[in-house]
Amino acid sequence: MDCLFCKIANGELPSKMVYEDDLVSVFLDINPHTNGNSLIVPKVHYLDYKEISDELNNHINEVVKKLDKMYQEKLGSSGLTIIHNSGCGQEVKHYHLHFIPRYENTDISLVPNRELEDLETVYQKLMK
Ligand code: 5GP
Ligand code: ZN
Repeated sequence: MDCLFCKIANGELPSKMVYEDDLVSVFLDINPHTNGNSLIVPKVHYLDYKEISDELNNHINEVVKKLDKMYQEKLGSSGLTIIHNSGCGQEVKHYHLHFIPRYENTDISLVPNRELEDLETVYQKLMK
């Protein structure tokens, strides 16, 4: 399979790799939202969150905690935003978590959309 993140996670293509263990690789995103914005990527190919086992999910969560501590110490971050995209929101079709360290007084641009259906309409659709 010709998959970009399979190749990066297994060292066949270059990246700024900051952490690696038997199951995952972590490397800097080439389009960072904040200093240290990284991608946590399993070495084995999975499409998205639906294919990740509970064991791997737990492992990834442990890696998140480790990285959070490391980035706080080395980059001075003091918060964290984690994003996972799937389906039409996902560009690279190999599971990855966006690990976005947060800094005091620094915003990232996930801007609320003011031109949506009103909350009651959406709520009624969901609860029907
Ligand atoms: P997605 O939309 O699939 O959740 O996000 C894919 C992410 O991968 C984007 O943030 C994009 O900047 C990053 N990305 C795409 N190609 C490369 C690459 O070749 N190297 C690195 N380090 N990041 C990449
Ligand atoms: Zn892959």
